Amino acid sequence: MIKVKNLIKNFDKNIVLKNIQTTFRQGEVVAIIGPSGSGKSTLLRCLNLLEQPTSGTILVNDEEITASESDKMEIRKNIGMVFQHFHLFPHMTVLENVTYAPQKVKKVKKAEAESIAKQLIEKVGLSDKMDAYPNRLSGGQKQRVAIARALAMDPAVMLFDEPTSALDPEMVKEVLDVMKDLAQTGMTMIVVTHEMNFAKEVADRILFLDEGKLIEEGEPALFFNNPGTERAKQFLDKIL
Ligand code: ADP
Ligand code: MG
Repeated sequence: MIKVKNLIKNFDKNIVLKNIQTTFRQGEVVAIIGPSGSGKSTLLRCLNLLEQPTSGTILVNDEEITASESDKMEIRKNIGMVFQHFHLFPHMTVLENVTYAPQKVKKVKKAEAESIAKQLIEKVGLSDKMDAYPNRLSGGQKQRVAIARALAMDPAVMLFDEPTSALDPEMVKEVLDVMKDLAQTGMTMIVVTHEMNFAKEVADRILFLDEGKLIEEGEPALFFNNPGTERAKQFLDKIL
């Protein structure tokens, strides 16, 4: 579904992604792990063109999104993104947060947008918070709204950048549970995470990045029990 070929990203002289090559299949859940600064966020941001790759190509369903004539807005409609720090609209209620983009970007009628939003808000367990403003929600609740908001665009793929890293420990599970449910619906998901149990249980494949290079990729069982590189071994020794 998504093909990444020879992807290179520089920030000035700093080469942040070094020739990344991989494919994400439809319905696959992929966990991207690696040390801080290894390029995980930059890779995700290249996938929805929040960053413009320096060179290389990204194809989504055989369409080259990195082509100069590609329509970024059109591409982003299809790619949901959930950030570490939620990025909800503070002046909008939960329901308004979830109905805004479909109406604005996809020209969905208000009644239909609300009906879809209500189902999604229920799915993430927040039916009783429909009319609350974000500042009245816990971190875990905010992140579940952010997930519902991304899903309201009916994306083909969901990107998550450390979705639980800003949460108090007791709120991590409620967000991971929503993500697990989503994985079970067959959603294609690419998740940057430090939650190794989630990666083990839910991911179909692990990508291990270090210093901008894709060092290893493979099945979780194999990667965690028997990493193929010294780099990955050292990383796992530190965190497990
Ligand atoms: P990770 O998400 O794995 O922690 P990042 O992708 O955020 O890593 O960052 C990788 C490298 O790119 C770091 O050295 C970081 O300082 C640099 N970097 C990220 N974003 C920018 C930016 N907008 N401008 C300059 N350098 C950046
Ligand atoms: Mg990051």
